[in-house]
Amino acid sequence: MTEAIERPASAAPPWEYASAPESTDIVRLDDRYGLFIGGEFVEPKSGRWFPTISPATEETLAEVAEADAADVARAVDAARDAAPAWRALAPAERAKYVFRIARQLQERAREFAVLESLNGGKPIKESRDVDIPLAAAHFFYYAGWADKLEYAFPARGTPAPVGVAGQIIPWNFPLLMAAWKLAPALAAGNTTVLKPAETTPLTALLLAQVMQEAELPGGVVNIVTGAGETGAALVDAPVDKIAFTGSTEVGKIIRRSTAGTGKRLTLELGGKAANIVFEDAPLDQAVEGVINGIFFNQGHVCCAGSRLLVQEPVFDALLGKLKDRLQTLRVGDPLDKNTDVGAINSRAQLEKIEELVESGVEEGAEIYQPECLLPERGFWFRPTLFTGVSQSHRIAREEIFGPVLSILTFRTVDEAVEKANNTPYGLSAGVWTEKGSRILHMAQRLRAGVVWANTFNRFDPTSPFGGYKESGFGREGGLHGLEPYLTFDGGAR
Ligand code: NAP
Ligand code: MG
Repeated sequence: MTEAIERPASAAPPWEYASAPESTDIVRLDDRYGLFIGGEFVEPKSGRWFPTISPATEETLAEVAEADAADVARAVDAARDAAPAWRALAPAERAKYVFRIARQLQERAREFAVLESLNGGKPIKESRDVDIPLAAAHFFYYAGWADKLEYAFPARGTPAPVGVAGQIIPWNFPLLMAAWKLAPALAAGNTTVLKPAETTPLTALLLAQVMQEAELPGGVVNIVTGAGETGAALVDAPVDKIAFTGSTEVGKIIRRSTAGTGKRLTLELGGKAANIVFEDAPLDQAVEGVINGIFFNQGHVCCAGSRLLVQEPVFDALLGKLKDRLQTLRVGDPLDKNTDVGAINSRAQLEKIEELVESGVEEGAEIYQPECLLPERGFWFRPTLFTGVSQSHRIAREEIFGPVLSILTFRTVDEAVEKANNTPYGLSAGVWTEKGSRILHMAQRLRAGVVWANTFNRFDPTSPFGGYKESGFGREGGLHGLEPYLTFDGGAR
C-alpha cells in the first residue's frame, strides 16, 4: 500500500517510499479468548463469542467472549474476594507487581505495538512510539507512588483504597487507556474489573497474560470483554467506583444510573478542541502542530485539535501550507512504518465521519481533500479540511472523531477566546504564538482541562488530564489521577 497517495501531474516529482511493513510474526494469536477472571482465562457463562477484526483488512483476528451480567457478576465477585489480601499487602510489595507489569510491557513492546495496530488500525509508528511507551510509563509512574501515598496527600489522614473499581474504556487508545485506569487503581490498593471496547479487546487480553507472568494475585485485575451491554452490566454491578472513558452520550447514561448509589464516578468524555494560531506564530511549526493535532490516530482522539482558529492576517499563508502538507500524508497499511494515517477503527465510525462530512458540505462549508488512493478493503477516510466554516455548522460543534479539520478565523484575542469557549466541551486547547504573555493570558481564559502552548497532543503520566463541562469530571494522570482511587480517614481536611 505504499502507492496510497497519488499526486497530481503538476506536482513536484514524488518521493517514492519502499514499503516497510512491520512483520506480524511476533504476535501469536489464539483462535479464541475467554474472560480473564480470578487470574485465569475462563469460558463465558453466556456461551457467546464475537469476532474481532483488523479494520485495515476486515479479516477476523480471533474470537472473543461476550460477557453477560452473570459473567460480570463473577468478575466482580473475584475482585471482591481478592480485595482484602491486596489491600493488606505492604505497599512496597504492591509496587513491585506494578513495576513488574511496566517492565514486561517494555520487554514485549514490539508485540504489543503490532497487535495494537492490527486490531485498532493505528499506524505502527504511533503504537510503537506513543501508545506502548506511554502505557509502560504510567505503570512505572504509579508504581512509584504505591508506598508514598501519605506523602502524596499530606494532612488528609490515612489513605485507603476505595475497594473494587469498574473501569470502562474506548477503542482509540486501547492499551494506553487500560494503563491509565489500572495503574493508579492498583498502586492505591484497589482491585478492578476492566471492560475494553468491543472493537479493540486484544491488547487488554495480552495485558492479562502479562498480569499472569507478573504473578499478580488472581482476581486483582479481571477483564470482561463484550459490547455496550457488558459495560452497562458493570456499571450496575456492586462495585465501589466507576471510571469511564468514552462518549458524552454514554457518560450521561452512566451518570444517571449511578446517581444515588454511592458509587464514586469519574468521566472522561468527548471534546471539540480549539487549536488557535495567532499572526505572530512560527507558521511552519504551527502547521506541524495542527497536522499532529487532528491527524494523529486518524483523529480518533478525544482531545484532537478539531477546530482550527486562525488569526485573519495569516489565514491564506497557513491554509496554503496546510494543503501542501496534507499532500504528503501517507494513508494506508497501519503496519507500514511510513504510514501517517491508518485505518478508521470500525465501519460504524466511518459511517459517522461520512455523515458529518456530508453535513459540512450541505451546510455550505468548502471541503478540501488531497489526491489519495485508498485500499479497497477495510475502512478508510481521506485527510480532510473544511474552510468557510461558521460556528453554527455541525462540523464546528459536534465531535467528528475522524481526520477532519474545521477551520475558522478570528481578528482579536477576545474573539479567539469567545469562539474557542463556544462549545459544550472543554477537554483541551492549543495556542500558537511567540508571546509568552499571550500564552498565559489565553491559558487563564480557555475553559479546557489541558492547554498546550506551541505544541499539541503531548502526554505525560505526571500531568493530569480531564475535562470541563460535557467533557466530564475527574482527572487521570499525576496525583490527581490517584486521588479518586483513595479514601482518607481523619486528617486536617
Ligand atoms: P462509547 O460508545 O461511549 O464507548 C466507550 C466504552 O463504553 C466502550 O467500552 C463501550 O463498549 C462502553 N459502553 C457503551 N455503551 C455503554 C453503556 N450503556 N454503559 C456502559 N458502557 C457502555 O465511546 P466510543 O465510541 O467507544 O469512543 C469514542 C468516544 O470516547 C468519543 O466521544 C471520545 O471523545 C471519547 N473519548 C474520551 C476520552 C477522554 O479521555 N476524555 C478518551 C478517549 C475517547 P462498546 O465498545 O461495546 O461500545
Ligand atoms: Mg460504542
